[in-house]
Amino acid sequence: MTSDTKQTEPVTGQTERLRELIAHARVVLWDFDGPICRLFAGHSASGVAAGLVEWLEGRGLHDLLTVDEQETEDPHGVLRAVDRRHPTSDLVAELEERLTQEELRAARSAMPTAFADPLIHTWKAVGSRLAIATNNSPRVVRGYLESRGLLACFDPHIYGRSQDLRLLKPHPHSLNRALTAMGAAPSTALFIGDTPTDCIAAREAGVPFLGYARNERKGKLLKEAGATDVVGSLEPLLAAVRSKGRHSCKPSE
Ligand SMILES: [Mg+2]
Repeated sequence: MTSDTKQTEPVTGQTERLRELIAHARVVLWDFDGPICRLFAGHSASGVAAGLVEWLEGRGLHDLLTVDEQETEDPHGVLRAVDRRHPTSDLVAELEERLTQEELRAARSAMPTAFADPLIHTWKAVGSRLAIATNNSPRVVRGYLESRGLLACFDPHIYGRSQDLRLLKPHPHSLNRALTAMGAAPSTALFIGDTPTDCIAAREAGVPFLGYARNERKGKLLKEAGATDVVGSLEPLLAAVRSKGRHSCKPSE
C-alpha cells in the first residue's frame, strides 16, 4: 500500500485492520440503534418495556409473562415473550404497533452517535452501498434518517421489524433481505452492530462483523459473543474511510 498524502497519525494495528475490513466492503449494512444513534437517549427503553407490561396487565394478561419477563428492560423482550405464547396473533400485532409508536416518540430525542453522520456521507461518497438491518420499526428509521439528511444514503434499503417477530435478529433475515435486494455476496459486505444479537446475525449470514461499543460493558458483551473487531468510537473508522477516498478518488476540488 502506498501513501500519497501526508500521514498525520501513526498507522496502528487497528488502523490497518479497519482499512482491510473497509477494502472488502462494497456493501455496508448498519444496525440502527447504537451505531447510528442512541434511540432511547431521552425516552428510556426500560420505561417503554414497563409500559408494555402495564398495558398487558391492564387487559388482565400479565400471566402471559414470567416474573423475569415482567421486569425486563428490553421492550423486544416483552414482544418476544408474548409472541412465544401467541405467535403472530392480533395481540402481538397490537403490541408491536405500540412499540413502534414509542420508538417514534423516542426518535424525537434520539442522540446521534458521534461521527456517524459524516461517516455515512463519506462512505456513500467513496462508492459503497449502504443498508440498514435493524430490529426497530423501518418507519422510525426512515423518519430519523430523513431528519438528519441521511435518507438518500440508504434509500430504499431499510430492513426492519415486521410483525413476524421470529425474524428479529439474531435471525439473519434482515441482513439476508438486504444482501438479496442489493445483489451482494455476504463476503463483499460488512455489518456494523452493537449487540451480541448483531454479531450472531452477521455470523449466520456469513457477513464480516464490526462491533461498535460505546462503553466497556458493551465491548465485553460483543467479545463474549465472538466479535473479533470492536471499536469504541466511529472516529477511526471515519479516518480509514477518508483514507480510502484519498487513495481511490481524484480530488474534486
Ligand atoms: Mg443496536
